[in-house]
Amino acid sequence: MQTLDPSPARLFRLSRFPALLSAVRLLCFAAPILLLLGCKKDVAADASDSDANGYLCLKCDAKFYTDRSVFIGPKCPKCQEDTLVEVVGYYCEKDKHLTVRPRSGDRAGSLVCDQCKAPVSAMRLPREDDLKAWGATKTSS
Ligand SMILES: [Zn+2]
Ligand SMILES: [Zn+2]
Repeated sequence: MQTLDPSPARLFRLSRFPALLSAVRLLCFAAPILLLLGCKKDVAADASDSDANGYLCLKCDAKFYTDRSVFIGPKCPKCQEDTLVEVVGYYCEKDKHLTVRPRSGDRAGSLVCDQCKAPVSAMRLPREDDLKAWGATKTSS
């Protein structure tokens, strides 16, 4: 008999962000309707939630990330040009690779995975770990 319950994994992930967890609890507690909507949209909510902001300079190709609450750009901290853009991630189901691209620019649908070249369309905000793996350096200015 197989009991494949996804909730422990979800709770584990949420438990890494105590503030988020309590916010979710409060939301669910106070508004059962939102709970219904919110929990059904759990995957979507997760996709638009991140702990960091990623940036790419279109001129010098410098890669940066900041804390979620810190926003930089469009001035690039490296070359001082106003060419810094925010990045988003596209998640590849095949090899679990996150392809990072500027938020505007490439059209979803024509995107392929950096690693296996399969088409990717599931947008997911990159997290700090994803941005580090992508090669970004942390900055606060
Ligand atoms: Zn630059
Ligand atoms: Zn792939």
